[in-house]
Amino acid sequence: MQILDGKIVAQHVKNELKTKTDLLKAEGKRVPHLAAILIGSNGASETYVASKVKTCHEIGFKSSLIRFDENIAESDLTAAIERLNNDEDIDGILVQLPLPQQISEEKIISLIHPDKDVDGFHPVSIGKLVQGLPAFIPATPYGIMLMLEHYKIETSGKHAVVIGRSNIVGRPMSILLSQNTYPGNCTVTVCHSRTTNLKEICLQADIIVAALGKPGFLTADMVKENAVVIDVGITRVPDTTKKSGFAIKGDVDFENVAPKCSYITPVPGGVGLMTIGALMMNTYNAALLNKG
Ligand code: NAD
Repeated sequence: MQILDGKIVAQHVKNELKTKTDLLKAEGKRVPHLAAILIGSNGASETYVASKVKTCHEIGFKSSLIRFDENIAESDLTAAIERLNNDEDIDGILVQLPLPQQISEEKIISLIHPDKDVDGFHPVSIGKLVQGLPAFIPATPYGIMLMLEHYKIETSGKHAVVIGRSNIVGRPMSILLSQNTYPGNCTVTVCHSRTTNLKEICLQADIIVAALGKPGFLTADMVKENAVVIDVGITRVPDTTKKSGFAIKGDVDFENVAPKCSYITPVPGGVGLMTIGALMMNTYNAALLNKG
């Protein structure tokens, strides 16, 4: 069994981007610039945005953090996005989700200019992804693809089971794994909350991507020998031994599943770390697009 180490692969991605950014600087060219919008003071969102900004800094990208109060009117947020869309110095825009209830997530995502949609959630980005065209790929599935590639994991002809069908993880993951590329060329089964024979389906899988948000859901009796298991789940569970009062748990019963696997991602230390690296790749590509 080999651990797929998100720290190592993410560092590799960051190093590559830093080298490219240093070169841009040496040539006197402008560096990629990410604008992040954070609304309210949700603890997890604060943490995610802070690490995105920090990673920009490490690589040498510019970043701008734009904060709004929880009670912001939708019209004020749309005006801010319009300003960023029209600002030639901004290459990528991300709006940290979830949004407060008075604001339509769908509307806000659609307002971001597709050329600056580094989260890859815009309908144009998803449409391009489905058609196999160059596109901003949602960061979590993109990070998983980078990880499979880094460890040279064979995917062609394999049966991949994706548990979860959300727009940000499960759905794009299933599309990517089915594409005629590497990694890809899998036969993909998408499972969800209405799937009735999940265990039988998982037992046929060469690759399982668990993205449902239920800690320890995937147990050893659901996994065949030598399967590749990718754990996307991030759930905070109360833990009095931790200073924060909580521990982060994945969707896989790691302790019992790991011995059966050829490869497995840990939580924490796996997919979560890749997500930011993938966002940075999208930001770099957005800057190339912005230059025309
Ligand atoms: P979501 O709630 O939008 O979707 C969950 C999906 O799981 C749904 O499609 C649902 O049909 C399916 N599901 C629920 N119960 C099920 C069951 N019993 N059997 C089969 N399928 C079931 O969640 P999401 O946004 O896709 O996130 C999934 C998990 O991944 C969460 O824990 C989230 O925190 C985590 N996540 C991690 C990262 C990362 O960077 N590692 C990024 C995004 C999300």
